[in-house]
Amino acid sequence: MNLIPLPAFNDNYIWMLHDGARALVVDPGEAQVVFEAIERLGVQLAAILVTHHHNDHTGGVADLREGTGARVFGPMHEPMPEPLMRLTGGDVIQVLGLSLQVIDVPGHTAGHIAYYAEPADQTPLLFCGDTLFSAGSGRLFEGTPAQMLTSLDKLAALPDNTRVCCAHEYTASGLVFARTVEPDNQAVISHQIMVKALREQHLPTLPSSIGLEKAINPFLRTHLESVIRTVQQFDASAQDPVSVFAALRTWKNQF
Ligand code: ZN
Ligand code: FE
Repeated sequence: MNLIPLPAFNDNYIWMLHDGARALVVDPGEAQVVFEAIERLGVQLAAILVTHHHNDHTGGVADLREGTGARVFGPMHEPMPEPLMRLTGGDVIQVLGLSLQVIDVPGHTAGHIAYYAEPADQTPLLFCGDTLFSAGSGRLFEGTPAQMLTSLDKLAALPDNTRVCCAHEYTASGLVFARTVEPDNQAVISHQIMVKALREQHLPTLPSSIGLEKAINPFLRTHLESVIRTVQQFDASAQDPVSVFAALRTWKNQF
């Protein structure tokens, strides 16, 4: 199974998984790059998976469905281009011979879902849309800090070697913030060097991994005493896990 990020717009990735014959894509905000990829690879588009309703994740769905006959899957509780099969946490779908588990991850949007798979002979895979970014997290447009913290905790509990397929290339700016929160975090410092080298060659910094994110991502590290103390310099009222997370998110929004 081959995993390819197709760049779209300024900084989106439309993730494609294919076995040489059939493919799935996740969050096709535009159709053209996907049409070009399936043409180039000589594969048939079997399925379209959507994580949430934002247009940069759904804009290409209708054209791709019409052009390829691919089945469309998306969240139960969000406005979606019909027709599609609607999914919610705990559902399992079979695509390309793969079992994909649906995880509810509200926060960025109210009904956001993620897809997780453990392919035979390969490391696990997570398509997390705009919930978890490398060294960052999605903004809270529709959900509460408590919801987003619960969602990120679910993702952090996945195996460390899980390949994390985020929907945006935000890693470099995420690391600048991560370094402000944790100036002495050696994992952040060394990853920043690698990310700089990749971006200079216009290469993706993704997929990340759950293990790496637990080491570098401040939004997965709000339980640490050192992070809590730093966040309290920004907002002294942040005491419990949810208010620390909320303060960190507010800090990042203003950063
Ligand atoms: Zn979004
Ligand atoms: Fe997005």
